[in-house]
Amino acid sequence: MIEDKNYKKLRIFVAAPSDVMAERDNAHAIAEELNRADNVADQLGLTLEVLDWRTHVAPFMGQPEGVILQQLPVEVWDIFIGILWLRFGKPTGEVDPHTGKEFVSGTEQEFTLAYHAWKQNDRPQILFYRCTRPVDLDRIDPEQFKNVKAFFADFDADKKHPGLYQSYQELQNFEQRVRRDLTKLLFKYKKLHCNTCNGTLTQSLHERFVLYQGNPRIIENVPAKVCQQCGERYFDTKTVEMLRKVDWNHNVQKQKIKMLIYDFSDLSRSKTRGKKNDNAKELQ
Ligand SMILES: [Zn+2]
Repeated sequence: MIEDKNYKKLRIFVAAPSDVMAERDNAHAIAEELNRADNVADQLGLTLEVLDWRTHVAPFMGQPEGVILQQLPVEVWDIFIGILWLRFGKPTGEVDPHTGKEFVSGTEQEFTLAYHAWKQNDRPQILFYRCTRPVDLDRIDPEQFKNVKAFFADFDADKKHPGLYQSYQELQNFEQRVRRDLTKLLFKYKKLHCNTCNGTLTQSLHERFVLYQGNPRIIENVPAKVCQQCGERYFDTKTVEMLRKVDWNHNVQKQKIKMLIYDFSDLSRSKTRGKKNDNAKELQ
């Protein structure tokens, strides 16, 4: 990928205990793959960066989980990927401010942070995967697995964190799902952000200028998405198509205005402003 200042970086936080390390590495590889020249992230002007405590966190003293979350706080996560199989992880010694109970594991703490941030700000987007690969019973730590089951039960509609998660058996299925889900998220992100500056787009009503047989017309209250950062306006294809097909002879005009037309090469700068145009006076 060619480095470009206009690429918007989307940061992915991966929460995964030790038994799904292969999946974590896989998520890294898929992000890299989507970033490659001419692949979807690159095409959309986005770059995926997987935040990894192994490379992003300086080894300060303190609780490992606390150190990770201090240096990679939830505010910088755009996407959260959670993966669980047989292990839920170890307690971090920190308390969930929403329940007053100690977090059962680092993964739970990370997910809880992501979930509450998402509920409040619609960010990070959460993707959760559950491995259901059959395993020799001797490999299962009953306490750990009990916590995994309890966690997934809380995705039910009336439970702690209602939502969806996806199951997979083989690493290959996980890979396909993550690739598909990340691609969907990239398109979703792009739809809600400005093409020019990646600022947030919000829906509002605007005027639009159209030409009909060489005659200019202004239509007010046209729905458009507007960039909160640079002011760029985006009209969707349905709206543009509708405006293209308007039968101008059968629409009541709201108002008629006179319009002054200038040539760019004739425009004087404010400092050397010459004689005021008579037409301008007439229109004032
Ligand atoms: Zn913009």
